[in-house]
Amino acid sequence: MRVMDVGPPRAVLVAAFDALDHEAGIALYARAPIVDSAPLGPSHRRYANSAALVECDLAPLQLLALLQRIERRFGRGRAQRRGQLWRARALDLDIILWSGGVWASPDLTIPHREMRNRSFVVEPACAVAGAWRDPVTGLTLAHISARLGRKRKGAHPKG
Ligand code: ADP
Ligand code: MG
Repeated sequence: MRVMDVGPPRAVLVAAFDALDHEAGIALYARAPIVDSAPLGPSHRRYANSAALVECDLAPLQLLALLQRIERRFGRGRAQRRGQLWRARALDLDIILWSGGVWASPDLTIPHREMRNRSFVVEPACAVAGAWRDPVTGLTLAHISARLGRKRKGAHPKG
């Protein structure tokens, strides 16, 4: 989950967790701590990131559709605020891993394509499912997270 500068990012994430929790057919097992990331890009937008561990009976594309419905409820795509255009999205809900391994279809790729390069994704995911293995590399989220951490510190990444 990722929140941009629409409203207090943390509050949007808390509300998004609650929205997931209230969905019939989704059991929310764990919420990762919410992590603020440094302002990025020329607009210096603020972000908050987190991850949820959920169980559901939905097929991956149905889950994606549900997540996109929640994104829309949080104003994704709505244009006006104090006369300015919102180019930022209020909320970005992605599927990072699922129990079925790899999924590849035009609208959905699991594991999420950028997961392994983004510590703001892997760190929260690691907090709720550190032992979960990326089916592509065979590495656990804990391993991927540690490797990204070493890269950030400039150390030579192993493995
Ligand atoms: P990102 O999440 O990479 O910042 P977007 O949220 O704009 O980008 O995603 C755009 C499209 O990515 C969605 O409409 C969806 O069809 C597709 N997509 C592919 N794989 C995934 C995934 N694992 N989780 C969520 N969306 C995905
Ligand atoms: Mg997305």
